[in-house]
Amino acid sequence: MRLQPGTLWAQLQRRTDHAKRSGALRPIDTEQAMVEDAGVRFLVRQVSSLSRKDADGKRLSTQAGAAANPFLPPEPDLVVTDISDSHFALLNKFYVIDHHLLIVTRRFEEQEALLNRADFEALFACLAEVDGLGFYNGGVAGGASQRHKHLQIVPLPLAAEGPAIPIAPLLAAAPGAAAAVPGLPFRHAFARLDAALVRQPSQAARAALECYRALMAGAGVQAIESGGELRQSAPYNLLVTREWMLLVPRSTESVEGVAVNALGYAGSLFVRDAAQMATIRKLGPMRVLQAVGVA
Ligand code: AMP
Repeated sequence: MRLQPGTLWAQLQRRTDHAKRSGALRPIDTEQAMVEDAGVRFLVRQVSSLSRKDADGKRLSTQAGAAANPFLPPEPDLVVTDISDSHFALLNKFYVIDHHLLIVTRRFEEQEALLNRADFEALFACLAEVDGLGFYNGGVAGGASQRHKHLQIVPLPLAAEGPAIPIAPLLAAAPGAAAAVPGLPFRHAFARLDAALVRQPSQAARAALECYRALMAGAGVQAIESGGELRQSAPYNLLVTREWMLLVPRSTESVEGVAVNALGYAGSLFVRDAAQMATIRKLGPMRVLQAVGVA
């Protein structure tokens, strides 16, 4: 029940080809625009008109997700591999970015439960094999559409041009190992990780768990006891790479109809149509992030 080290990327590609052929995967085609704001070249993806039906399908399926759980059981064609006794890897059925991976708990756990050692073990087992951006949408207001606990990874780079992660140049300006990032006008907590540790995923996971707890405290998200487990006191987004971790508490899911999840804080936004694209251009992407964050 363990991921065979060195096999994830090949399995991910094989499963993707298979699930494309079988029709289990439903890509959402987008057109991309770069919108410059506050020193960041934001990537904004707009659903192409031909893909609107699939994007709607995703919304309907994820609304239905409140009742039905698409991860238990998962669609067999989308299952990539076991990761550990507690987690498996699943292809994101409605994907915008190729090879978008979901890291799902085998047994039902609430998305609002705090991340634990097993979650970070699974995340780093995958990050060791795929140089990607790991992220977590903590709660509905954080952009989560499913209640069943799932971390996610998208391979880097996010954009064909510019930095691999659009927000990364701003993060590079943060002084020291753990500090506020100048230029981010919303509450957040940021820390650098030891990238060399990724070769020992278990150690990397232990360090990341400690870091996550420190960032949660730093950002003012507390652990509250509920039904015998620890849950988040407030919604938040978590972004994790081999090199750093960024945690952003959230106030709301969307601004003027534009929904934001953790990828937004990486500098990658997603809009449904031209009207939402115009909203982003009008407000400016950084103000969008500010509006759905906490002052
Ligand atoms: P989030 O919306 O961040 O909670 O992530 C959940 C993801 O699950 C969404 O991006 C959906 O595209 C994806 N999803 C919805 N239904 C399925 C399914 N049946 N199998 C795999 N992924 C799904």
